[in-house]
Amino acid sequence: MRRLGVIGHPIGHSISPVFQGAALGARNLDAEYTPYDIAPEDLEDFLSLVRAPEWLGINVTIPHKQAVVPLVDELSEEAREIGAVNTIVNRSGALVGYNTDARGFLRALDGIGFDPVGRDAVVLGTGGAARAIVYALTRSRAGRVVVAGRRADRAAALVVDMAHLSGGTELRAVGWGSDELEEEVRRASLLVNATPIGMRGGGAEGESPVNASWLQPRLTVFDTVYNPPETPLLGEAARVEARAVSGLEMLVCQGAESFELWTGLDAPIEVMRLAAREALEG
Ligand code: NAP
Repeated sequence: MRRLGVIGHPIGHSISPVFQGAALGARNLDAEYTPYDIAPEDLEDFLSLVRAPEWLGINVTIPHKQAVVPLVDELSEEAREIGAVNTIVNRSGALVGYNTDARGFLRALDGIGFDPVGRDAVVLGTGGAARAIVYALTRSRAGRVVVAGRRADRAAALVVDMAHLSGGTELRAVGWGSDELEEEVRRASLLVNATPIGMRGGGAEGESPVNASWLQPRLTVFDTVYNPPETPLLGEAARVEARAVSGLEMLVCQGAESFELWTGLDAPIEVMRLAAREALEG
């Protein structure tokens, strides 16, 4: 039996074991995927276990995504540029760190036929998810990417960090709640919420990160929040007949990318989507 899992602290909220387990079953693989609650002081010891031959790899979630960066043997370009690892692959005892949030985001966009090339986007937030998304959009040659964070210094730093990747993408930071942000949202083709605003059980449950009057039908609204799958922001997008993408789709797509890295097989995405939705609804 081969081993896979997810490490975090705490880990009880993760639905990855449900949809990764369903994927392993659908592909008839003799492997199990287990959640592990690992405290920061135990991280290094745990990773040394993952080098054993029975391990295919692991997912990494909060609060370890940055902490594992110096502990792996090799990093993919995405993981290095984003500065965070959410997937580790055991290649004959060497641990290789990847970040599948960027590819998962692009795969979810591709699923609705949205091509970022030359398009204008606004990204709300400056944390790990925002870094992955700004990286993905810049690498995909978006026309313009505007970052808004409640901490102006972090928004400015994110723009500086990604500037060298730009093959023509204009990167800009604007103030949270500013008139400039309103103007940018009104002219954008894509709005991404990469903050926890709207998340069940979070400090801003039931809230939306922007004023509903800023949304228009030509906009595609992408919420990284996946619980609930239909957030207040997505509800407002639906009311103006804008296209809406749930964070649940990004979660499933980043999981599919991880599955493909570990197994070399196509992920059974429909099985994973169904299992994830059932886990949240249950
Ligand atoms: P993070 O690193 O903690 O960053 C959170 C960002 O949101 C920070 O910029 C933070 O600002 C900002 N923020 C938090 N509360 C805010 C508020 N009330 N008003 C304005 N800004 C606020 O977290 P993360 O890992 O990037 O995750 C962000 C969200 O993305 C979470 O909801 C997470 O579940 C989701 N996510 C989804 C997926 C997926 O596959 N669907 C993958 C990764 C993440 P400060 O710096 O000022 O605190």
